[in-house]
Amino acid sequence: MNEKAYINNLFENYRLSDKAKLIFNKIVKTDRGKKDQVLKDFIRLKKKANLNIALLAIYRQQVNCGFVLSDPLKEKRKKSFFDKKTGVNFILSFNPDRELRKNHKLLIKMGIIEKNIDPEKLINKKNGVACYLCWKNILIQNPLEIIVKIKLNNEYFYIGANFAYITNNHFTIMNSKHIPQIYRKNIIDIATSFIDKTNGNFRVIYNGRAGASITEHEHLQATTEAFPIENIIKGRKILNTKNTDIYNPYYYLPLWLVEGDNMNELADISDKIISEWEKIDENNTINLIFTKNKDKYLIFIFLRDQQKLLSGGKIGAMASFEVGGRIVLSCDKERTMFKKGSLAMIRTFLREIAPENRKSDILKQKISLNLIGGNNE
Ligand SMILES: [Zn+2]
Repeated sequence: MNEKAYINNLFENYRLSDKAKLIFNKIVKTDRGKKDQVLKDFIRLKKKANLNIALLAIYRQQVNCGFVLSDPLKEKRKKSFFDKKTGVNFILSFNPDRELRKNHKLLIKMGIIEKNIDPEKLINKKNGVACYLCWKNILIQNPLEIIVKIKLNNEYFYIGANFAYITNNHFTIMNSKHIPQIYRKNIIDIATSFIDKTNGNFRVIYNGRAGASITEHEHLQATTEAFPIENIIKGRKILNTKNTDIYNPYYYLPLWLVEGDNMNELADISDKIISEWEKIDENNTINLIFTKNKDKYLIFIFLRDQQKLLSGGKIGAMASFEVGGRIVLSCDKERTMFKKGSLAMIRTFLREIAPENRKSDILKQKISLNLIGGNNE
């Protein structure tokens, strides 16, 4: 798709006013040296339309100015495999441009990383490398990157386009404080708060200790593209309360799906599942995907084992995008894998990272006892 068609589509879908359209087009075309101008226009567009629209405009500007490594609208190497057993239409994509993220010299040449940095000004260094997600470091190290401050569930975050994108409108949401990537209950409220602030258009993901590449700094990710897992056949409810339904859909690694419209209850139940899982074994962790469908939130909880991150010769760790049904291949060694791609291969990828059955059975027992116990109180 070309950019013009994409933007016209957006304008039509969201019925933007002429004034909002004008600001949107202006942001998209603002050149790389004018970050302050983009930020000013971002605030104006947010007022004229909403946060969702303003972020979509910023994303296009970040693609056009060369910060995002290639244009997601032009992505070509993509295959899909429909799986009758789960109802999921898996996507396998090959995006070699993502590999550029590892080429420091080239990134400097492209203007993505600043050439002359005074190391004294950088904060939170580990082995001489400054944290990539601290906003103060971003301002110094990444001259093209635009980050916007937002308040989610009474905490401050910065949001910016992910330059090694996986999907269109792929953003990273970074805590304004340098705190470690350790699951806490507030993550659920932070994720759903972002979904609400962007009118349900964005999906949010959180990688526990499975696939998060930067574990020193808390971060979530967001994208406007639907995850294949959103169409999974839920199967029968295993438990429910007045406002919340819980499912264990048939899948290739253990998955809990919590659905409901009462945010407090949803957060309590999801948190119970996650924390009970983490208590069973010190290597237990999770990948989370949050979406909203009409008035109901859906939280996909994938049970993971920190020691089982890789599968089937795939180079990168399997994280939320992969468990959500979108397998991303990018390095040269994976090219053949992409060519030979099949449903069987994807199923194997997922099965190989599944934690031991014994452990997920313990969780099932604990949760049913716990919830039933809770109802009797
Ligand atoms: Zn940091």
